[in-house]
Formats: sequence, structure tokens, C-alpha cells
Amino acid sequence: MTSLTSPITAALLGWLAATGMSLAQEDMGAMFAPVPDAAMGPMVDQQMGYMTQELGDGLYWLTDGTYQTMFLTTGEGVIIVDAPPSMGQNLLNAVASVTDEPITHVIYSHSHGDHIGAASLYGPGVTIIAQQETARHLTEKQDPNRPVPTQVFDDSLTLNIGTQVLQLDYLGVNHNPGNIFIYAPKQKVLMLVDVVFPGWTPFPDLALAEDVEGFFAAQDQVLTYEFDNFIGGHLTRLGTRADVETQIAYFDDIVVAAGKANGAMDFGAAFGEAMERGGGNNIWAVVKIAFDRVARQCADEVEAKWMDRLGGVDVFTFDHCWKISEFQRID
Ligand SMILES: [Zn+2]
Repeated sequence: MTSLTSPITAALLGWLAATGMSLAQEDMGAMFAPVPDAAMGPMVDQQMGYMTQELGDGLYWLTDGTYQTMFLTTGEGVIIVDAPPSMGQNLLNAVASVTDEPITHVIYSHSHGDHIGAASLYGPGVTIIAQQETARHLTEKQDPNRPVPTQVFDDSLTLNIGTQVLQLDYLGVNHNPGNIFIYAPKQKVLMLVDVVFPGWTPFPDLALAEDVEGFFAAQDQVLTYEFDNFIGGHLTRLGTRADVETQIAYFDDIVVAAGKANGAMDFGAAFGEAMERGGGNNIWAVVKIAFDRVARQCADEVEAKWMDRLGGVDVFTFDHCWKISEFQRID
């Protein structure tokens, strides 16, 4: 028979009881803000693990609630974009649930494993298309989970396969080198991964953007396409033009707030705090305190305005403020 409480846990619980704390209190940080209704998407059946919805004329949106992608039936085979490992076998299940056509073409939005790391599931016979920066990176990596592209383009490629048209555009580095715009003109669907997060603040540090100016430019470039539905690669729902405009306005506010906070940066006060904390001779401690205070001031201002408009604003605005204020200081 095993005991539910190990001797160590029992000792810890005893100590917590003696100090008047409970485990729950010990573990709990600040409460999170409620997620606005507008951030929520359709519920994904947990048993099924995915949801797919036709957005018009043989183009299907596919999501597991965390990752998103799309595929198209062409009459001559299926074109599928990306292969998020979170979906795995469900990528094949979803396609098989709407068509008997085999998957013949795979498009990589970009090289990151969290979006294409299950691509080996499509088998060795498929045509894999990517921008040349993506191909170069994957050729270097030789990762069996991310097969090397078999068809590469530089600026633009328009696929005419069966009944479908798909336009692939590379407009420069944004999230990473090789990240492309994938546009279905007939269905007016645009996909760009890891830049715009409909209903939510992006993942930290502008979703780990390798090029800050490229990231901002990409938001604006999205609006140059004529689309009704936007697929951002993540989270719970599809996006619209309004979602893109909302994210642009959110970052505009961060840029202004970060600039203001940078202008008010007080190294004397940061040095004082570092001294109090035993780090008076620790240059990194002083720098970290000063830069964190700038980001905190920026985040306080932006969170107050955006908390009820986007999901996760209280979670990741500080990180965006840190990244943008640092970018303003050095560039
Ligand atoms: Zn990525």
C-alpha cells in the first residue's frame, strides 16, 4: 500500500501549518484578469481533439484550440499548410473527414517546429513548398520531423492546382526569416503565422519576433490583402480586418507608453534599490532594475486601457513593453 503523503510532504505540510500558511496560498500569485468574451472561439470537442470548418469552396480551417492551420481540396489532391505537432495524427483525420483525396502538397508557413514538426506524417511522396530562407534553415538542421522542402521560391509563387489558387508571398523578415503570407483569393482567406493573434495579445516579445520593424510592417502588410477570414496560427478563433487593426492600435499604445517610460528612466533610483538589495556594485542588477521599471510603467498604462479588449493583456504586456523599450534604446 502506498501512502498519499510522503514523509517529505508531511514534514512540509507540518511546517506550513506551523507558520500559518497553506499550500494553496503559497502557490498562488496575483489573480489573472478575466478573458474578454471577444477573445473566445468555438469550443473544440476534447474527445475529438480538433475542429474543422469550411470557409468556402473547399478551403477548410483546422484548429485544436491552441494551434491553427488550413487545407484545400483541389479535385487533384489536398494542399495542406503546416503540420503542428499538437495536432499530429488529427491532421490526417481532419482531411480524411471531408475528402478521399490524398495530400499531395504541403506548404510551410515558416521553419519553426511547433508549426511544422509533424510534417513527416505526410509521407515521402508529397511536394513540400517553402520560401528559400525556410529551406536553407531546414537544410542546415536536417531534422527528420521537418523534411526539407522540395520546391522553393524567393518573392512570390502562385499555385494553380485543380480548382484552387493559392498565392504565396514573402515580404521580408518579420517573425523570422522565411515567414510567408498565404492567400486564397477565391475564398478571401489570408494566413500569416505568429504575427497577429486575433482577440489576444501575442506571445511574449512580439511573439519572439526576430525583426521588430519587420513585425510591425507585417501587421500593416496584412491589411493590403482583401480578406474576410484571417488565420494567425494560434489560439481560439479566426480573425478579421478589425482584429488586425485592434492589434496595431494596441502596439501603437505600447510604443508611445514605452517612449514615455524611457524618457522618465531613473538610474539613480535603480542604483538605490540595487544598493538596498546588496547589489550596489552589480552593474547588471542596476540595469535590470532600471529597465524593468520602465517596462512596468509602460505595462501599467497599457494594461489599464486594454485589459477588457484583448485576452492575456495582464500576462504578456510587460514582455512587449520590455522588448519595445529596449529596441527604442538601442535602435
Ligand atoms: Zn514561429
